[in-house]
Amino acid sequence: MLAASLAVTPFAVMSRPVAGVRNNTLILTLPGSPKGAKENLQSVIKMLPHACQQAAGMDSRTLHSGGTEKLEQDAGLKKENAAPLSAHSHRHRNDSSHSHGHGHSHGGHAMPKVHTSPEERPMSNDPNAGPTRRYRESPYPMLSVEDALSKISEHTPEPLITSAPVDEGLVGSVLAQDVTARESVPAFRASIVDGYAIIASKHMMVPSTKGIFPVVAISHAEAGDEADELKLGEVARITTGAPLPPGATSVVMVEDTVLRSQTEDGKEENEIEILTADIEPGENVREVGSDVQSGDVIMKRGEGITVVGGEFGLLASVGTQEVEVYRKPVVGVLSTGDEVIPHDRPGDLRLGEVRDTNRPTLLTAIQGSGFEAVDLGIASDKPGALEQTLRDAMRRVDVIVTSGGVSMGELDLLKPTIERQLGGTIHFGRVSMKPGKPTTFATVPFKSNTGERESKVIFSLPGNPASAVVTYHLFVLPSLHKMSGISPVGLPKVKVVLEQDVRCDTKRSEYHRVLLAVNAEGRLSATSTGGQRSSRIGSFKGANGLLCLPTSQPMLKKGDTCDALIMGKILSEL
Ligand code: AMP
Ligand code: MG
Repeated sequence: MLAASLAVTPFAVMSRPVAGVRNNTLILTLPGSPKGAKENLQSVIKMLPHACQQAAGMDSRTLHSGGTEKLEQDAGLKKENAAPLSAHSHRHRNDSSHSHGHGHSHGGHAMPKVHTSPEERPMSNDPNAGPTRRYRESPYPMLSVEDALSKISEHTPEPLITSAPVDEGLVGSVLAQDVTARESVPAFRASIVDGYAIIASKHMMVPSTKGIFPVVAISHAEAGDEADELKLGEVARITTGAPLPPGATSVVMVEDTVLRSQTEDGKEENEIEILTADIEPGENVREVGSDVQSGDVIMKRGEGITVVGGEFGLLASVGTQEVEVYRKPVVGVLSTGDEVIPHDRPGDLRLGEVRDTNRPTLLTAIQGSGFEAVDLGIASDKPGALEQTLRDAMRRVDVIVTSGGVSMGELDLLKPTIERQLGGTIHFGRVSMKPGKPTTFATVPFKSNTGERESKVIFSLPGNPASAVVTYHLFVLPSLHKMSGISPVGLPKVKVVLEQDVRCDTKRSEYHRVLLAVNAEGRLSATSTGGQRSSRIGSFKGANGLLCLPTSQPMLKKGDTCDALIMGKILSEL
C-alpha cells in the first residue's frame, strides 16, 4: 500500500498503514481520504483472497506449492507468458497521474518484498524501544587491540597548527616548524675564565705572554659600550662571560698570574706578571656563534619541548619569541550513571549509590599525560540528558572521554546516543581485551562556532574503574598524541622479568597492572598489584606498568619475560 501511494505522491511517506491478524481476521488500516483509501485497497485487493486463506489457517505448504508464479497467476496479477502487466490494464502503464499508478513500472514484481524473517532482523538500538527490543548480543564486531589501534590512528583528526609564545606553557608541545636561530650564542667574544685578556700570537713580532703587564682596563660581565682597543704589551682584567676588548686574542687565567704592583690607594691592580709563555691565540675565548650560529636550524618540525627544559632553554637562548606548534587537544571527562554520585558528597551511601571514581582518576591521568582536562560532571542515564551534555561538551572540548553506559543494559545509552542523536560513527564498540571489552571509539561531525566542520572524538570507556584507566592508557592516549603531533604515539613497550607466576587469559589480551622497578641485574622487573578485577581501582595503586599478557599460554612463570607498557616513573630496586 505504501509503495502504491508513493507512486502517486512522495507525501505518501507521511502515511502509517498497519496490517495485522487478530484470531483469524485480517485487519488492514486504510487512509481516511476516500481517494487514498481506494488507491490503497486497490493495491492489495488481488492478494486478499490468498491472505484471507492464510489467515483462516490453511496449510501453508499446500497454499504455496506452486510458488509465487502460480500465486500471481491465481490472483490475476500475471498472464501466462505475458509481459509484466498492470493489474489495471485499462490505464496506460506510464500514466502516473493519480489513482491507479500503482508503481508497476518495473513489472509485475513491484510489490514490496521483505528479504528477512523477523528472527533475522536486528533488534533495535533505539533506547525508546525498551528492554524487550534491545540487542541481546552486541552488534559491534569484536576487534583485536591492534585493529582497534589502527582505527584510532585512521579516524583521529590530523593535528592543527597554532602559534605559541616561548614560555613554560610550551612544555609538552611539538613543533610544527623548523626553528632557526635569530641570534648567535654567544653574541660577542666572551671569556671562559676569570683572568686577563691579552694579545697572544706565534708571530715573531708579538712578545711572549710571559712577563709583567700593565692592567689598562676592566671588563665585567655586564652590558656596556665597546671598550678601547687593547694594545700589544697591555692586559685587561676580565671576568667569566665578559666581552673581550677589541684586539685581545686570548685570556690568561688568574691562577697563572701574580700581582706585581697596585695603585696608591691600594684598591686597584697596577701591574701583573704572567707566569707562562704558553698562552695560545683563542685560548679561553668563546667565539661569536661557537655554541649556536645565527641562521642555524636549532630545532626541527616534529621535535618536542620536554619538561626537562633543554629545548625550552635552547629556544630561549637565541631569543625565539614565538613558535608554531601542534595544538594540544582539550579533553573533557564525563561520568555516566544514575547510581554515580560525586566522590566527595558527604554522608553515607544510599543503597545502589557508587562514588564517582572514574572522573577524578581520568582527570588526573589526562593532566599527567600533559593535556588540559575539563570536568564535564556526571550525566544521568536519561536519554535526553546524555545527548544534551555531549552536545554542550563538543562546544568546549576536542575529545570527550566518558565512562560507563557501554555495556549491554537497557540504560547503556552511549552507543545509541552517539549513533542516533549525534549522527556519529562508531568505529569500534567491542575489543577483545581484559579489562575493557566494551570500549567504544567514535567520531561525531560538529560545526564549530565559526561555522567550520570539525570532527570530535569520543571515547566511551567501560564503567568499571580499572577498565576505564587501562583503556585510557591503551586507546585514548595514542589519539591525544596523534592530535598533538607526538610520535611515536602511546606508551613505550619494554621487556620485563616477572617476579611471580601470572595467570593469562587465553581468549582476550589481558593487561595486568604491575609495579616496574630496576632489579639488581639492572633489568626491569614486574610485581603484580594483586587482584585484577575490573572494578578494583586499587589494582592501579602504585602501578606504573601494564603487563601485556600473551593469549598463547595459560600461565607465565616467575622469571619469565613479558612485554610491558610503561605508564609512570620507573623506580630503582624495591
Ligand atoms: P556500566 O557500563 O554503566 O553498566 O558500568 C559498569 C560498572 O561500573 C557498574 O558497576 C557501575 O556502577 C560502575 N561505574 C560506572 N561509572 C562509574 C564511576 N564513574 N565510578 C565508579 N564506578 C562506576
Ligand atoms: Mg551505567
